[in-house]
Amino acid sequence: MSICEQSPSYIRAIAPYQPGKPIAELAREMGLDEARIIKLASNENPLGMSPKARAAIESAIGDLARYPDGNAFDLKAALARRYSLAPECVVVGNGSNDLLELVAGAFLTPGSASVYSRHAFAVYPLATQARGARGIVVPAKNFGHDLSAMLAAITPETRLVFVANPNNPTGTFLASAEIEAFLSKVPSNVVVVLDEAYNEYLPPELRFNSARWLERHDNLVITRTFSKAYGLAGLRVGYGLMKPEVADLLNRVRQPFNVNSLALAAAHAALADQAFVDQSYALNRSGMAQLEAGFRALGLSWIASSGNFICFALPDENGKPGAGTVYQKLLRQGVIVRPVTGYEMPRHLRVTIGTQVENEMFLAALTASLPA
Ligand SMILES: *Cc1c(COP(=O)(O)O)cnc(C)c1O
Repeated sequence: MSICEQSPSYIRAIAPYQPGKPIAELAREMGLDEARIIKLASNENPLGMSPKARAAIESAIGDLARYPDGNAFDLKAALARRYSLAPECVVVGNGSNDLLELVAGAFLTPGSASVYSRHAFAVYPLATQARGARGIVVPAKNFGHDLSAMLAAITPETRLVFVANPNNPTGTFLASAEIEAFLSKVPSNVVVVLDEAYNEYLPPELRFNSARWLERHDNLVITRTFSKAYGLAGLRVGYGLMKPEVADLLNRVRQPFNVNSLALAAAHAALADQAFVDQSYALNRSGMAQLEAGFRALGLSWIASSGNFICFALPDENGKPGAGTVYQKLLRQGVIVRPVTGYEMPRHLRVTIGTQVENEMFLAALTASLPA
């Protein structure tokens, strides 16, 4: 018997996460100049990071021989102030992905189940399967979460429900009232993870403070990240807001030093630089309008998005989805977008909103990639 057969069958059954293609990899594969490649595949911030975050990283470098603050005192204090919560309500993670894993690790076992939507973020099934738990996939409504169907899908074995708002890769959004109504009906012994990775991209009229729901819902865990609007994806830092009792459980399963010193320093500085977040928001709004106008001119349909990315549909070729061919043609022109076949969306591609110039280059490459 091979050693790998000693691994539980539910581990061996996991389909690995498919990341966006790195720039260096495409350059190697196609013999392209890295400087001419544009990557719009991983919802990264086209402005980079806040200059204040960069300065914080530079001044933290001298201390890298020491372990980071495992309690993240400064960052947790700043986040607690921002949301008017006690620092005991905040758990920081190695990206918000870490928080999703920590919740799964604290609540799921073989035999239990989690509920999530079709076309929802890929980490929900991954975190579920890694615990030997069963994923209950609920059909989507117009590519978005169908909260009443998700409520109805909860079984006695269900310990977790994942809700992404906005969702990735579809960009669909649930209004405050819908989530609040959902929270009031979910059994109190089921944890609701509200994943708000793209919250900072919402227009002011759609934004709401989900943290205040913690006053009434002990079973709520809110996750946010510094990877998207804050531009710190490479450093890996995110956080969760929850009741102190729930935070205590997550702290038992997390690595003692799960967030590195540079990430802690950068996140703390980035949080204070609202001007950078505002600039990122504004660039995203104008870029979204630019891409929508481009799709309209090309006669392509898209899914209205509340994030920093957009899924657009490609015409079929000989009765088969044409998205794969267009993806390859874009790659050959040095433009990386994201196939979403793994999300059961074989007719779509997802593109991240870039700078104005990147968006123009993408639209030109797309125009050249469409069947005549
Ligand atoms: C990007 C993303 C995350 C987390 O990213 P991290 O870099 O791990 O913080 C979480 N949820 C959704 C829906 C995302 O798209």
